[in-house]
Amino acid sequence: MSKKWYPVINYETCNECGACVNKCSHGVYEKSTTRPHVINPDGCIDGCHGCQKLCQTQSIEYVGDTGQSQSLSMDSNGSCN
Ligand code: SF4
Ligand code: SF4
Repeated sequence: MSKKWYPVINYETCNECGACVNKCSHGVYEKSTTRPHVINPDGCIDGCHGCQKLCQTQSIEYVGDTGQSQSLSMDSNGSCN
């Protein structure tokens, strides 16, 4: 089964602040650098916008994001954790 939801970084606008890397506790990003590298897309939680909401440069989009909210077990911020 191919993964249908994971973040994609726009390195043209990303300022490498590291907020997304620090936010995610699901091992999606490589933790040893503040430059976001998606190393484990399978770890991303379907429908989670946690890292995107922290990004001040709108540099994160999701594969599979239709713009519709998904009724999964997210908190009120649409975040996984
Ligand atoms: S969307 Fe959520 S689970 Fe996926 S990388 Fe961002 S914080 Fe992690
Ligand atoms: S939060 Fe946004 S600007 Fe900061 S490192 Fe992640 S993608 Fe780049």
